[in-house]
Amino acid sequence: MIKVKEALQRASLQLQGAGITAARREAEILLSAVLKKTRAWLYAHDEEIIESETYVLFQQWVERRAQGEPFAYLCGEREFMGLPFVVTPAVLIPRPETEILVEAVVQELQGWHNVKLLEVGVGSGAIAISLATLLPYARITAVDISPAALAVAAFNSERLQVAERLSFLAGDLYAPVRGQKFTAVISNPPYISAAEYLMLDKSVKNYEPRVALDGGPDGLTFYRRLSAELKQLAAPPQLLALEVGQGQAAAVSTLCREAGYQKIKQIPDLAGIPRVVLAKL
Ligand code: GLN
Repeated sequence: MIKVKEALQRASLQLQGAGITAARREAEILLSAVLKKTRAWLYAHDEEIIESETYVLFQQWVERRAQGEPFAYLCGEREFMGLPFVVTPAVLIPRPETEILVEAVVQELQGWHNVKLLEVGVGSGAIAISLATLLPYARITAVDISPAALAVAAFNSERLQVAERLSFLAGDLYAPVRGQKFTAVISNPPYISAAEYLMLDKSVKNYEPRVALDGGPDGLTFYRRLSAELKQLAAPPQLLALEVGQGQAAAVSTLCREAGYQKIKQIPDLAGIPRVVLAKL
């Protein structure tokens, strides 16, 4: 027999002990999910007794979280650009810095009509679906090598009501869209180098899909391929918009220049790290 307020106290202590900063908030969200109530309900009913089966389930979730399982996978949802995205372990959890990529593309393409965009490596669909929401004239083709990721992205596009302007194709980079023409190519490819991969936090390394993170020996494999294989399209896109890892912006800008792009802009994130490379013909 345990009351809401005691359950929350114990869980936040356990999460805090595991090094989780937002321990209390996470405990509240997990408990409200298990009880199928809102967080506000918890405040108003902190003397309420939790049934023991429900409490066992809550404890299991808290334990998994304390072991390092990402909060977004436990809740099954993560917000990105103000929209709720379903996430499963088949997809990378959308990162806040990726909003800079979306905002940069929107700024570039706002007011253009009939734009056809290609996103390579769609994952949860966070980028493609936010772009579809913010650019009502855009049609978007989204490619991913992982059919399981595409299923999540397709589900999100239905849920967020933009499915009619998105198409999802399984395959390796440009292979499923060979010979087609796009206004812009957008990608947040896997960019973690082999050395960095070993150092990743265990909550990333042990849970998030390696296929979405591993950028080859120096982390640049996919930028080399994204620029060199543009020849497979009918024409080079007018805009390339790429998220890059820390310290990669210069190398990626050079690759874009070598692929014939002359106007290159690097956009920093809030920490001042160049995070997005925009390249125009
Ligand atoms: N930003 C992600 C991380 O730090 C990496 C995303 C990627 O490889 N594209 O874990």
